[in-house]
Parts: sequence; structure tokens; C-alpha cells
Amino acid sequence: MSLGEFDLIAKYFTRTVTRAALGVGDDCALFSTSPGMQLAVSSDMLVEGRHFLPTVAPDRLGHKALAVNLSDLAACGAKPIAFTLALAMPRVDERFLEGFARGLLALADEHECELIGGDTTQGPLNLCITVFGEVPQGAALLRSGAKAGDDLYVSGTLGDARLALEAFRGTVALAGDAFERVRLAMERPQPRVALGLALRGIATSAIDVSDGLLGDLAHVLRRSGLGAEVRADALPRSDVLRAMPEALQRSCTLAGGDDYELVFTAPPAHAAQVAAAAQAAQVSVTRIGNVSAAAGLRLLDRDGRALPNTFGSFDHFKA
Ligand code: ADP
Ligand code: MG
Repeated sequence: MSLGEFDLIAKYFTRTVTRAALGVGDDCALFSTSPGMQLAVSSDMLVEGRHFLPTVAPDRLGHKALAVNLSDLAACGAKPIAFTLALAMPRVDERFLEGFARGLLALADEHECELIGGDTTQGPLNLCITVFGEVPQGAALLRSGAKAGDDLYVSGTLGDARLALEAFRGTVALAGDAFERVRLAMERPQPRVALGLALRGIATSAIDVSDGLLGDLAHVLRRSGLGAEVRADALPRSDVLRAMPEALQRSCTLAGGDDYELVFTAPPAHAAQVAAAAQAAQVSVTRIGNVSAAAGLRLLDRDGRALPNTFGSFDHFKA
């Protein structure tokens, strides 16, 4: 006998809450933000075949579904509080549910982010999470805050998730251990929550890289009414990606997508504080260019010569 809707919610998605006043089980969940704080809210949906491959391990899928949402809180400098999970699945598959819940809740515990509610229905596999975080009034890192003359930074490394996707597609061949490393970047991204929190009051703007560096950076520049120079060779990348042909390194780092790193701006006078924030958050941060008053995004090679910018942003309705 397979579990019914309410049994599966009780078995896999009902946990005691400590931060929230009321969790799963009633018509609404209840929680309060601390005094002086604003609520930061974001939703991300993952659709099978579109955002993940049907072969992904359930625990990694659970991890990723929450990670991409926490990444949005990170980009705002918000501290995670709680999340809801809307889940459609074709049938009750307990092997799937056990792994999915394990990966999901392990990351939730790591960030003290409580599952407080959701919805469960039958249908094609589809996961939608809404996260709630808090940030002091007026302190959120926004896309619109960049200033001309700011330095431009990115956390971690870029491009591995895209390299993994290309390996899955068979357009590149990777040795077993190299494949496993980039696959981890694709299937188990680490949201930069600690860095986002540490950058409050230091960074002027931030965004997380989900659709590719250049595309996401363009959102910041448009919102801020500015331009930028980006040094293509300064973009941080893994040893695995570094061993690939240069054109592939460029496309993966500049427009790969699914990176979940933070791109942010800060005035040169804050350089030491940026380095301290990175150290406190235990993540590397690399300066990749600067923000300029002149509109447009200029891509430079290592000698400062202009490179053609033919890299588009990922668009679900054009891809
Ligand atoms: P309603 O009929 O009021 O929409 P449901 O019967 O759908 O409520 O859900 C019952 C309870 O279980 C609610 O508290 C809801 O938030 C919670 N819930 C449903 N699905 C999930 C899920 N996938 N994860 C966490 N909580 C869930
Ligand atoms: Mg419902």
C-alpha cells in the first residue's frame, strides 16, 4: 500500500519548529521577524528535464532545490528563517521521498532554515520552494546599488556546472574523477549565505549567478544605470575547467549558468573589508573588473584588449 498525501507529509515533511510559531499542519504557518528587520522572500521552481536531469540522485535534488533559493537570500544579504515546499510528483516513490527529504533537510538544518509548510499534489515532477529570510531595515544588498568606480568581484569559481552539463550531453569527455568534481558543482551547489551576510554594509550591490555571469551582471548594470569592464582571464575557475580548451573556458565562465556564486560591487576603499568578509565566510573572492559610468559591458583579454561579447544570458523561452 502506498502512502497517501497526508501520510507522506507527516512522514517526510513534518518536523518540530523552534524559530517559527507554527509549522506544518494547520491552514497557515506562523512566524515573526525580529524587531527592526525586513522580510526577504524569494521563490524558485525546479522542473524535471529543464532544471535537472531525471538521473540525479534524490538527496542531491533535495539539496539543490533549497540551495538555489538560499542563494537568492545570500544575494540580498538576508539571513534564512523558513521555507515552504510545493511538490508535484507522478507517484508516491518512497525511495525518492526519503533521499529528497534527507538532502533537503540537511541543508535546511545547516542554515537553520525551517520547513514550515507547502503543498503536495500528483503531477509531473516539479519542485517549488519559497524561502523567507530577514535583513535589517534598509540593509539588503540590491541590484541597483552599484556606483561608478566600484570594484567588481565574484565568489568561488565559475563554469564547473556548465562543464558538467556538457559532459552529460556528451560534447566534452572528462576523466572519472574530474567528472565527479564538476558534477558536484552542478548537483550540489553551496549557497553563499555567510558571504552575503558578511558583505552587508561593505558591498554596494550583489546578485547571484544563476543564468551566467555576463547576463546576471547585466541586470546589476541596468538597474544601476552603469557599465563595466570585465577581465575574462581573471575569472576564477577550477583546475578541471582550466585543463579545457580556452574557448570552452570562456563560454563556461562567462555564460555557463547554474553557478550560484555571488557577483558584487564595492568601492576600492572597502577592499580590505571585502577580503575580511571572504575570510570570515571561508570562501574565496576574486576581483574581476570594475564598474564604470560609461554604459555597456566591455570584455577585456589579459592585455587589456577588447574581446567580442557574443555571450547571451540563459533564457528559458529562448534556450
Ligand atoms: P490545505 O488544504 O489547507 O492547503 P494541505 O492539506 O494541502 O492544506 O496541507 C496540510 C498541511 O501540510 C499544511 O500545513 C501544509 O502547509 C502542509 N504541507 C503540504 N505539503 C507539504 C510539503 N510538501 N512540505 C511541507 N509541508 C506541506
Ligand atoms: Mg493545500
